[in-house]
Amino acid sequence: MKPLRVAIFGAGPAGIYAGNILASSYENVTIDLFDSLPAPYGLIRYGVAPDHPRIKGIVNSLHEMLDSGKIRFFGNVEFGKDLKLDDIRRHYHAVIFATGAIKDAKLQIPGVDLEGSFGAADFVSWYDGHPDVSRTWPLTAEKVAVLGNGNVALDVARVLAKQADDMLTTDIPENVYEGLKQSPVTDVHVFGRRGPADIKFTPIELRELGEVEDVEIVLYPEDFPEGWFDEDADGVTNQHRVMARVLQSWLDRDSEPAKRRLHLHFWHQPKEILGEAGKVVGMSFDRKGETREYPLQAIYRAIGYWGSELPEVPYDETKGVIKNIGGRVVDGIYATGWIKRGPVGLIGHTKSDAMETIENLVADVDTLADPAEPELQQVLSLLQSRNVAYTDWAGWLKLNSHELELGEKFVGPVSRERVKVVDRQEQVEIARAENI
Ligand code: NAP
Repeated sequence: MKPLRVAIFGAGPAGIYAGNILASSYENVTIDLFDSLPAPYGLIRYGVAPDHPRIKGIVNSLHEMLDSGKIRFFGNVEFGKDLKLDDIRRHYHAVIFATGAIKDAKLQIPGVDLEGSFGAADFVSWYDGHPDVSRTWPLTAEKVAVLGNGNVALDVARVLAKQADDMLTTDIPENVYEGLKQSPVTDVHVFGRRGPADIKFTPIELRELGEVEDVEIVLYPEDFPEGWFDEDADGVTNQHRVMARVLQSWLDRDSEPAKRRLHLHFWHQPKEILGEAGKVVGMSFDRKGETREYPLQAIYRAIGYWGSELPEVPYDETKGVIKNIGGRVVDGIYATGWIKRGPVGLIGHTKSDAMETIENLVADVDTLADPAEPELQQVLSLLQSRNVAYTDWAGWLKLNSHELELGEKFVGPVSRERVKVVDRQEQVEIARAENI
């Protein structure tokens, strides 16, 4: 069995699962896992909503995979800048891209560039303390729209509607808590372009919307005509049945008035974002041939994510993915996760996806060109010669302990398990410090 050196870019679930599957399917392999951010875990750290600890808990198994020593983590290393494709070919037999999808899909309607029109992905990055987005977010609107009927739309709507104090038990950074606390929002309107039977939410996430403290869920009977949900229609799953029951129970109950309202509207096809003096003042929709207008001061577009192009890697700009067949891109280049198949599916789905990519990589082993400089130290020396302040696993353990300590030291009305460090430089300094 020939010794194999593999680089993976993207230390989110897709990259870590791929590394773990590779380590157990090919004995004589060394795997270096790079991320452009100083900390690992990608979407779990920077995409999952802070008030979803159940999903964040997946970090525990990813931690074990990295802690086993079979995969070496290096953060703060950007593909195409700190390491180029030529460098990869000099040091590795193969590279797997697991860089995910962190941008917003484009919505092409008039007014989309007005001040107050936001991509949900950017807002998620803000509330999750992504180091590369602004520390402040203009939460000044009283009436807000969230476009889309997927789980990201639910996350965004819930975070906007929730009282900041109810988020304090999570790992949100200080600036996010302060930002949410200032929000004067009274009404969050979620708009789906299809009907209530066609939602892309999942049952747990929908149900929890109804449990948010001091938020009234408002549904509109016009969206629920007699027989609106056909239990036996083709393609109807148990998940649809559960969600239909949840919506029906909200429709039937007398809800208590609350400080904030969360409205669910259906059959609203986005038409135009309306502005005055460059700012959002409302939005118009087509509802079954009729135009409806709503006064709003902010719009969050949660209509799907989009994968970014990587230098020198074949990219399909119609789908926002790396061009690939079963994860194979071109000689020695592979892809897995959302950058391979597009931004759909839950975290667990990336496992089967990674299996396919790794199976193909292992089948190709004999055809992969041997690298000229296969020693790890040679890559690290290259990074050092380029003054790249990379972080490593020991560094992450320091940063992790530091964030847990910040949580322990927190003095306030609730206890906090962790407080995230946001600033990239600060993360790097903590991770690279000699004696912490
Ligand atoms: P998604 O599930 O694909 O939902 C996108 C939504 O945007 C759909 O309702 C879609 O409507 C709508 N849409 C697309 N283009 C539109 C347009 N031009 N105008 C109006 N609406 C438009 O995507 P997502 O919410 O970004 O989530 C991505 C994946 O991550 C999903 O698999 C999701 O379940 C997962 N996720 C899970 C969680 C969790 O807590 N479990 C949290 C976040 C994300 P149509 O259905 O009509 O196309």
